[in-house]
Amino acid sequence: MREEPEYLPYGIIHTEADGARVAVRHAGTAIDLAAMAADGAFRAVGGPAAAWFAAPRLNGFMEAGPDVWRGVRGELLDAVEGGRADRYRIALDRVEQRLPARVGDYTDFYASYHHAYRVGARFRDPDKAVLPHWFKLPVGYHGRASSVVVSGTDIVRPNGQRPSFGPTTELDFEVELGIFIGKGNPLTKPVAAKHAESHIFGFVLLNDWSARDFQRWEYVPLGPFTSKHFATSVSPWVVPLEALKARKVEIPEQDPDLFPYLREPSPWALDIPYEVRRNGALIRTGNFRNLHWSPSQMIAHHTVTGCNLNPGDLFGSGTVSGPEPGSEGCLLETDGPYLEDGETVVISAPGFGEVSGRVFPAVSVPG
Ligand code: MN
Repeated sequence: MREEPEYLPYGIIHTEADGARVAVRHAGTAIDLAAMAADGAFRAVGGPAAAWFAAPRLNGFMEAGPDVWRGVRGELLDAVEGGRADRYRIALDRVEQRLPARVGDYTDFYASYHHAYRVGARFRDPDKAVLPHWFKLPVGYHGRASSVVVSGTDIVRPNGQRPSFGPTTELDFEVELGIFIGKGNPLTKPVAAKHAESHIFGFVLLNDWSARDFQRWEYVPLGPFTSKHFATSVSPWVVPLEALKARKVEIPEQDPDLFPYLREPSPWALDIPYEVRRNGALIRTGNFRNLHWSPSQMIAHHTVTGCNLNPGDLFGSGTVSGPEPGSEGCLLETDGPYLEDGETVVISAPGFGEVSGRVFPAVSVPG
């Protein structure tokens, strides 16, 4: 059996007896951080650890910043190694998982070249598939935070204009890396790419469910709207950036004349392989290293105007596709076949766990 990396990711667990609180996952168990903190752990890191971890969301801990995150992680690694964490372990099948954070804002980027190329060739013209400005800035749009849901939540087929009215007939998934913002920035205070890393709390797997027929009809002139806002699923465990240092790989071939706010010494993506299963059958394998823009550059571009980010804000990387057949991160790139009612899509990556969703029939629309 393949050895899974142990990244000590953070999540929210819920049990009947103790409600919702913060835990880390290790060796097939959830380690209850609220219980550890109540017994006096994490006092040395400075800050209200008991309050952060007794909360039903990670936002308080996310806001505490990288010095605190490193301190907590260091203490956890020691406690796991020394066996002191063992009495706080709960079997994963005894807990329900909740959304890791209260997501105030969600922004979805479009940062994988091979995805942008294949979609541009289909929606427009193979000769103008990727327009010149795509290499100058990380393209994105403001998504919808209210419909971000945790893995396992039912996906109800949306109704809309396609251009006739009815349930989408081109329901798709998108394999994306989700990026949770930790410490935010104040309104009017941009963050340069080379300073942005300290604002990244961690990463999840993200499925940006999409209705392609709605998208084609509505996206000109202002971009995606109802085709994207009905559901976005995330995996329940947030892998901290600190745990992924060894997975960093340099992004090749960026424009040498990027504006200074986007420059960083070594723009990076993460070498993390992923798999997509449709009704249990493996249909795609890819790698999140296939990004042209780094998470730091996304933060820099998002904040360059002075726009503020808050703890728990979520970015999607955009669909991550590779050059090879079989590494397309969605069904649009292969012209379907699109999802039918009753189908299940599961995206997984070693050490991250999975994000899953099952498609349910459309509801009837009043009017
Ligand atoms: Mn997307």
